[in-house]
Amino acid sequence: MPLSPALAAALDDAVLRESDALVKLAMDIHANPELRFEEVKASSWICELLASRGIPTERGIAGMPTAFRAVRGGEGGPRVAILAEYDALPQIGHACGHNLLAAGAVGAFLAAASVVGRVGGQIVLLGTPAEEGGGGKIKMIDAGCFQGLDAAMMFHPFDRDILAHPALASMWVTFTFHGKPSHAAAAPQDGCSALTACMDTFRLVDGQRVHFRDGVRVHGFITNGGQAVNIVSELAGCEFGVRARDQEELERVYAIVLRCARGAAMASGVTVEIALRRGYRDIRNNMTLARRFGEHLKARGRGAYETTDRVGAGSTDMGDVSHVVPSIHPYLAICDEGESLCHEHRFAECAASARGTSTALDAARAMAKTAVELLEDEALRQAVRHEWSA
Ligand SMILES: [Zn+2]
Repeated sequence: MPLSPALAAALDDAVLRESDALVKLAMDIHANPELRFEEVKASSWICELLASRGIPTERGIAGMPTAFRAVRGGEGGPRVAILAEYDALPQIGHACGHNLLAAGAVGAFLAAASVVGRVGGQIVLLGTPAEEGGGGKIKMIDAGCFQGLDAAMMFHPFDRDILAHPALASMWVTFTFHGKPSHAAAAPQDGCSALTACMDTFRLVDGQRVHFRDGVRVHGFITNGGQAVNIVSELAGCEFGVRARDQEELERVYAIVLRCARGAAMASGVTVEIALRRGYRDIRNNMTLARRFGEHLKARGRGAYETTDRVGAGSTDMGDVSHVVPSIHPYLAICDEGESLCHEHRFAECAASARGTSTALDAARAMAKTAVELLEDEALRQAVRHEWSA
């Protein structure tokens, strides 16, 4: 049962009514980039905007001062969550467009909240800090913030509209090599170079790439390259990100990377210390829900790819959420296809453009309609749940 034209119009009107406030929110967050877990201004501005609309928020949830939750509607019925991210990147600010992501989520929530009394059920806004390497959503999963939800949704800015795009399972590993220092000119024969082992790790990993499955990414940088030019380096270190399309391949590749580091250490007669940091899970896009979002997007004249393999994928803690509750994470263009991708300076400029803010409003409309439709339509909820359990 598709959304009634009257409800769709009410949601469109609500987003239109809030559009000035949403654009201001997006621009303010863009002008004040805050790193993971430090999103004090961004989370406050969102909560203040909600408060000015008479909507209370619960702040500091899941042990994170910049996480929050707002709920509208009655208990006992279906519940749908819309997720807002608002963290920025070091050096390049809002080059992932999370300022727009936040504005779109707040707009969708305000619109859905304006009709939820008529429709029944609950609409939830979750403020999720630290997507960029902090895994705020994982802490919120552990704290039970996603329990009892029928679906979770968000949108992400991109260079094209895609309803469902992969996100890679990921982990980070740090290698610290401990060698034996000596004078690099006077007594090179007495030293064991930690730096050589560190560099050999990169070379050995490169040699293994022919054995990786499609979609695997292993990328690293040297965090400590030694102490001085005339000392055989006693200490050297590097960090690798390891990603794959699923957990099984991730673990297989991770074992290969470990083998390379250990082999490099053995070759140089040094020791290696290994520290593993858990990353994010791969994403399970709920296609039933994604296609409904796509239909609502079409009403705005936007024809999205259902999916495309012509552009690469990153990783997101929404992947973890998608294993706990049926989820969508569609991408919407804020620039021309191929013009710029996330984490580039140009993308940060696009995140403050008129096209960017208009995309955030399109996302708000489409998410609000998808969420309300889901609250209204039990058959749709069942189809979503059925796909998710399969
Ligand atoms: Zn992002």
